[in-house]
Amino acid sequence: MDALSVVGGGIAGLALAACLDPRRFQVTVHERRNEPPQVETSLAMWPEAQQALDEVGILPAVRAAGSVFGGMALRDGSGAVLFTARAPGIIGVSRADLLRLLDAAVPAPVARAYGPVASLPRSGLVVGADGVHSIVRRRLWGERSRARLSPYLALRGIIDEPVPPGGGGEYWGRGQLFGITPASRGRTYWYASYRSGLGPGGIDVGEALALTRARLSGRAAGIDRVLAAATPGQTLAQRVWTVPFPGSYQRNGAVLVGDAAHGMTPNLGRGACEALIDAVTLAGLLNSRPVPEALRAYNRRRLLRSQALRVASSAMARLALAETAQPLRDGLLRLTGRRGGAAAG
Ligand SMILES: Cc1cc2nc3c(=O)[nH]c(=O)nc-3n(C[C@H](O)[C@H](O)[C@H](O)COP(=O)(O)OP(=O)(O)OC[C@H]3O[C@@H](n4cnc5c(N)ncnc54)[C@H](O)[C@@H]3O)c2cc1C
Repeated sequence: MDALSVVGGGIAGLALAACLDPRRFQVTVHERRNEPPQVETSLAMWPEAQQALDEVGILPAVRAAGSVFGGMALRDGSGAVLFTARAPGIIGVSRADLLRLLDAAVPAPVARAYGPVASLPRSGLVVGADGVHSIVRRRLWGERSRARLSPYLALRGIIDEPVPPGGGGEYWGRGQLFGITPASRGRTYWYASYRSGLGPGGIDVGEALALTRARLSGRAAGIDRVLAAATPGQTLAQRVWTVPFPGSYQRNGAVLVGDAAHGMTPNLGRGACEALIDAVTLAGLLNSRPVPEALRAYNRRRLLRSQALRVASSAMARLALAETAQPLRDGLLRLTGRRGGAAAG
């Protein structure tokens, strides 16, 4: 049996461990956390990620735990609808629920090691599933592969109230955005982003929330309602980091999956989706081919597609957070909404 160490037991690492054949690999998952995330947040699962969840065997449970929505209104900063993007069947699921279900899908022979990995395991294949600041990537791809700090702050949280009537969707203002979507159990998931000098680490959530209220309150009723109900204890605030192009996802007996490979801005809502697709793709190849061949095939299948999404996500961030180009952007979007006959107005 081949030894295989997964560094990082987040979404990508657990999905991989759940799908690897335990008769072929002696798998150990190394995870620095030993408890689930304290602040609840939500993740949008697009159809291809749902296929991956189906391969893991947890799609019905994710659907039952989450909430399904059919699209999203794109609004200007005052709440007027620019157009409505229809995307039927997206599932919004709490990260904690997703992690719990992935964890339960990991077969019993997989070993668990808790605590931060400081030096890389020496034998067998090493999988870097350790997120945007991946130690596996930094050790084997070099310091030039360090995560890059974007100028944007991201806040997100859940409030114990339904989506304000007529207030759901994503609001694009001048240099700032705000999102409101349904969350499980009739609650609301919200997020906000804008340029900020807070951070990069150790951000005081109360301060970030106060700053967000000062910047965004009084512009749209939906935003006001959500920000009034948001509390620091139910909010996460962090700077957005991205990962530079690593050239290849495999090197010297190691392979990268998820954010470790392609950490992207959150603007397309695709990072966790791509992490799941990486994991099931890599597991399927490793289960059926010799390891070197499986790694080459994984790289061919995943590199360009996930990097294209990383680049597209950054482009979307620049569009959504446009400053001087905001009036032009809104005008073009309004026109697009009218042309497409979407629910503008
Ligand atoms: C504001 C925001 C909103 C987002 N919204 C969405 C969305 O709607 N849909 C979507 O698909 N994606 C979304 N994403 C992206 C998504 O969160 C990430 O892409 C996803 O979490 C990546 O999963 P991962 O398993 O690769 O990495 P992570 O979730 O970062 O997991 C890495 C794991 O490795 C562990 N780890 C790290 N270093 C070590 C170490 N040295 N030793 C041991 N363990 C270690 C960590 O504790 C963690 O558990 C969003 C991101 C942000 C910031």
